[in-house]
Amino acid sequence: MSEPKDVPIEKITPYDEFNFDIPEDEFPQQGISARAAAALVVSDEWTDTNPMLNMSSFVTTFSEPEAVEVAKRNMYKNYIDHDMYPQLFAMERRMVRWLHQLWNGPKGVEPYGAATIGSSEACMLAGLAHKWNWRKARENAGKDASRPNMVTGGNVQIVWKKFLRYFDVEPRIVPLKPGNYRLTAEQLDSYVDENTIAVVAIAGQTFTGEDDDIQEIHDWLDDYEKKTGISIPMHIDGASGGFVNPFLYPDYAWDFRLPRVQSINASGHKFGLTPPGLGWVVFRERKIFNEDLIFYVNYLGGEMPTATLNFSRNAAPVAVQYYQFLRLGFDGYKRVMTHTLKNAVALRTALVDSGYFTIMNETQRIPVVAVTLDPKVTRFNEFDVSNKVREKGWVLSAYTMPSDAQDVRSLRVVVRPHINHNVAMTLARDIVDACKYLEQHGGTATPPELHKHAEEKSSPAKC
Ligand SMILES: *Cc1c(COP(=O)(O)O)cnc(C)c1O
Repeated sequence: MSEPKDVPIEKITPYDEFNFDIPEDEFPQQGISARAAAALVVSDEWTDTNPMLNMSSFVTTFSEPEAVEVAKRNMYKNYIDHDMYPQLFAMERRMVRWLHQLWNGPKGVEPYGAATIGSSEACMLAGLAHKWNWRKARENAGKDASRPNMVTGGNVQIVWKKFLRYFDVEPRIVPLKPGNYRLTAEQLDSYVDENTIAVVAIAGQTFTGEDDDIQEIHDWLDDYEKKTGISIPMHIDGASGGFVNPFLYPDYAWDFRLPRVQSINASGHKFGLTPPGLGWVVFRERKIFNEDLIFYVNYLGGEMPTATLNFSRNAAPVAVQYYQFLRLGFDGYKRVMTHTLKNAVALRTALVDSGYFTIMNETQRIPVVAVTLDPKVTRFNEFDVSNKVREKGWVLSAYTMPSDAQDVRSLRVVVRPHINHNVAMTLARDIVDACKYLEQHGGTATPPELHKHAEEKSSPAKC
């Protein structure tokens, strides 16, 4: 990249600054002015989606100016450096205790948990804790500890498949079926055994927003223990549900109220309402997080425990989460989740009433609307609808469901707090208008090629 040639410096205007070639393959040689660099970055972004209109994402796209201020003030702090920023560390510890209480952890124990980059890191940490605990118990009992497995539903988020592969745990994934997209106790018998480190159940799954049948799975595992003497813990993936269920359904036991639930993760950057870069893992009590997983390092002048996968990270999301908890409180989160759910239900009703769609989430917990086209619609598919509404700026993902429901196509909308009723109704109208157009003119899209990896079609026989 070079400054415009032949233009005397005093004559350079913003137009000249736009007249740069950005090198594709070579590191830029000379620097340019701050104004020009900023203009180039901004223009590169122009054609990307407006995050506000990205209806596919669970991730927060609205903050109050005060939250942005808090983020700015903390963006040069390295979260891991507890010795330098003890108050930040104290905020994190406090928030772990708050979440332990919010998720009905037992009293009189030492809560333990961590702020992570997102739920992915949180899930990995929880998975590792269960792997370590299982292995220790097996070794103490003089039993083989070489073949750990984990049981989940086919509706799990990709992070669990990563965990299983990266950390060498055998996947035992119970397939879905058309019409039932949740993990229930129905087939557990063929999946669970003495090598199962944990059963992962989801609160607020990504495909339909539903919860797995957490209570039923819990009770089944109780019976299993009575029959076999094998006690298997549960992890709840509450990436989304963890910040919805406590506020909207206080009487619903999805959390530490169930004794078998030993760990829960949630995404601060989803319904925790912080910008991207924050997740949480909380354990029922400290001893569940195996001490062997904690490192004590001498760093930047202090002895410091570290038990996250990441070391350095931006402290801003942690500080913003603290702001949000104080700012909204239980009462505020409840109000936000109530209006968000109300708008999701309004959108759901409008789509179903149009006659084009069938709802996929029978139960409506988190504010997600997942629909599939009614079987009588033959001239276009969900991918066509997704493409057509893109003309209005909306990004709405259509996808095929995981096996064995891969013939079902879904269109999913995550209704986030900034989508007010008016916007939700505009979206509904745009979707229905797209359907009317496609009915008349026909669609063209074909769903992307299904990738049937062997490990995704897990069955007990293969395990
Ligand atoms: C989003 C999500 C994850 C991954 O969380 P990140 O915060 O994106 O790392 C895991 N599980 C579920 C159910 C999710 O919705």
